[in-house]
Amino acid sequence: MALIVQKYGGTSVGTVEKIEAVARKVAAVRREGNQVIVVVSAMSGETNRLIGLADVIDTRPSTREMDVLLSTGEQVTIALLSIALHKLGLDARSYTGSQVHILTDSAYSKARIQDIDDARVRADLEAGCVVVVAGFQGVDEHGDITTLGRGGSDTTAVAMAAALKGDECQIFTDVDGVYTTDPRVEPKARRLDRITFEEMLEMASLGSKVLQIRAVEFAGKYNVPLRVLSSFEEGEGTLITFEDEGMEEAKISGIAFSRDEAKLTILGVPDQPGVAYSILGPISDSNIEVDMIVQNIAADDTTDFTFTVHRNEYPRALEILQETSQVLGAREVKGDDAIVKISLVGVGMRSHAGIASSMFEALAKEGINIRMISTSEIKISVVVDEKYLELSVRTLHEAFGLADDPAEQDA
Ligand code: ADP
Ligand code: ASP
Ligand code: MG
Repeated sequence: MALIVQKYGGTSVGTVEKIEAVARKVAAVRREGNQVIVVVSAMSGETNRLIGLADVIDTRPSTREMDVLLSTGEQVTIALLSIALHKLGLDARSYTGSQVHILTDSAYSKARIQDIDDARVRADLEAGCVVVVAGFQGVDEHGDITTLGRGGSDTTAVAMAAALKGDECQIFTDVDGVYTTDPRVEPKARRLDRITFEEMLEMASLGSKVLQIRAVEFAGKYNVPLRVLSSFEEGEGTLITFEDEGMEEAKISGIAFSRDEAKLTILGVPDQPGVAYSILGPISDSNIEVDMIVQNIAADDTTDFTFTVHRNEYPRALEILQETSQVLGAREVKGDDAIVKISLVGVGMRSHAGIASSMFEALAKEGINIRMISTSEIKISVVVDEKYLELSVRTLHEAFGLADDPAEQDA
């Protein structure tokens, strides 16, 4: 007997019929003698609908009330799924995050899970009951409802699997696994049988929304076997593995991209010690996260400084930078929020030189101007104009032979 945690995302539970189909899949696993915990998202579009309702009233609503509002989406799905399981003759019980006691900090809209009280769930499982848990939500120490950030149901599932020592955490979604890049942008993308935690973490943090980054972090930390599968088709999906398990010898595993980018430049700043701190200090004091940073070599005692932030934070960051510019006596502040970040990811990069230049060459041949570059051991990211997103992804996918079998890749 195994303990299986399954998570079904929004599209997988988008209609009552789909919820009944999920119930049949769950029932089959339960009837094989396994214990089953099911984590579900809100029905597709529901979270966005709720955000839209609040937005009509106030464009900057209280984050506490937003969490109360958004958590209702998942509450609908858990009840409907339990009803569907009952109809199939199974014993099932639904729980909100607060009932299972998924304890989080109080950072509304992006809370972090601190602890899960597993007693109730364990008792239900032992009594043969299917436990249905609302994804994306928890409760803080004051009893207030919190949510875990967009895509947070993935994290609920992995956290439940970690807390209850599940044998596998299965993330069911609308694609049949993790691909070399988002198949919606590059139809030639290839499904990966396996990907390492390290690479998956990098892909998620660089914008691939197939798994929430915190879910991958959690799985890595607690050694949770994690698999991404299709809700609608049979198949093995993609296993997220720890390294050294006979990995495919690919240099590049995938291409991630993020549309949520904006860049800001301050020009003609007096070049003196402490300048980076004077520029970025006020930004970080406002809780704005900075991603890429470039400082030019100084010419005539002044320098230019460019950095990127999440596009949502762009207006605020621009305001702050304009104030800083006055204080420092800089020449000018410029900004651009029509940019995107595209990243090549692969642990194989460590042992292969020349990946960066192949990347730049491929983009140059298409006339795509690179605005910023950043590298780490297992990734290379470039910032390009938004209009080149699709072209860049497809160009790089082709240039690195990602549609082909890894053995045949050469670029
Ligand atoms: P769910 O609602 O089930 O959580 P999401 O929309 O959050 O589903 O995640 C699945 C989507 O992730 C896919 O439809 C796909 O467009 C997107 N995606 C982005 N990058 C990748 C990738 N590398 N592999 C597979 N899917 C990806
Ligand atoms: N319903 C939430 C969202 O749309 C959480 C999730 O689906 O994982 O982001
Ligand atoms: Mg998701």
